[in-house]
Amino acid sequence: MEVSIALKITALTKSYGSTQALRGVDLDVRRGEIFGFLGPNGAGKTTTIRCVLDLIHRNGGTVSVLGMDPQENPVAVRARCGYLPGELRLDDAFTVEGQLRYLNRLRHNHADWNYARELARRIDLDLKTPIKNLSKGNKQKVGVVQAFMHRPELLILDEPTAGLDPLVQREVLRIIGEARKAGATVFFSSHNISEVQEVADRVGIIRNGVVVEVAEPSTLINRSLRTARVRFRRPVDSQALLATPGVKLLAQEDGASLLLQVEGEMDGLIKTLAGFPVLDFETERPTLEEVFLTYYGSNQ
Ligand code: ATP
Repeated sequence: MEVSIALKITALTKSYGSTQALRGVDLDVRRGEIFGFLGPNGAGKTTTIRCVLDLIHRNGGTVSVLGMDPQENPVAVRARCGYLPGELRLDDAFTVEGQLRYLNRLRHNHADWNYARELARRIDLDLKTPIKNLSKGNKQKVGVVQAFMHRPELLILDEPTAGLDPLVQREVLRIIGEARKAGATVFFSSHNISEVQEVADRVGIIRNGVVVEVAEPSTLINRSLRTARVRFRRPVDSQALLATPGVKLLAQEDGASLLLQVEGEMDGLIKTLAGFPVLDFETERPTLEEVFLTYYGSNQ
């Protein structure tokens, strides 16, 4: 396997009884990148992640994690990864610190305790609190600390910011960014498109058990539709404008103001506009969220 690939998934399939959750997932995560894994409920994100760590057995395809097949070397793979599951199982008999120490023993005592304490402080998690007294959000924080505390080479995070308040979400995104700066690779699933847009170097979109797109967030955004609002000095005949390839009328507020949809580059529209008395011209890029919706339509 190429050294530059931290995680390689090829033609991965997985069924639960008659439900085919993964229908041939292909994905490469490069070393040192933050890769955001997006998809609607039930698309197959968690199933993919569980197959990557061999927490469930795949039915077909190949998976290589840091050069190892997780089915052949599950212990070695898990030792080199930090994993935040969607639902972390914690033991009510422990305090937060006791739980972290217990998890650390399972992972051969590689935790950096100064770092663990720093993480806990930054996300406002009290190490002395009994697990049984923690809210759902605070349990998620324990999951964050245990995933990062041994400074793993590869972080696999299933919705790391789920259930956290906005300030803590921001801190977790900062921690993800810092881990990458320190050389780690991060693969994380999310429903939160704006956070993916903010931190991910690349995004993969999964739909019905198949990865339908992998690209940089900016590429996805640039490739899609934009809107352009044009105001003219006086009412104009817009026929010529609307004949420009890729340009459609969204709204005509009056003869002197148009809202257009533009597919692809702006070049054609701008050249046509050169023949018009333009007072003002504004364009808007779609958010990644709008791009995402074009993949799923409104019914998924
Ligand atoms: P979410 O965003 O809701 O967490 P997801 O993208 O992580 O969704 P998965 O949890 O991987 O999706 O689910 C993929 C499909 O597999 C869904 O149809 C789901 O109902 C099904 N599925 C997942 N786990 C099981 C299971 N243990 N038994 C049966 N079906 C399952």
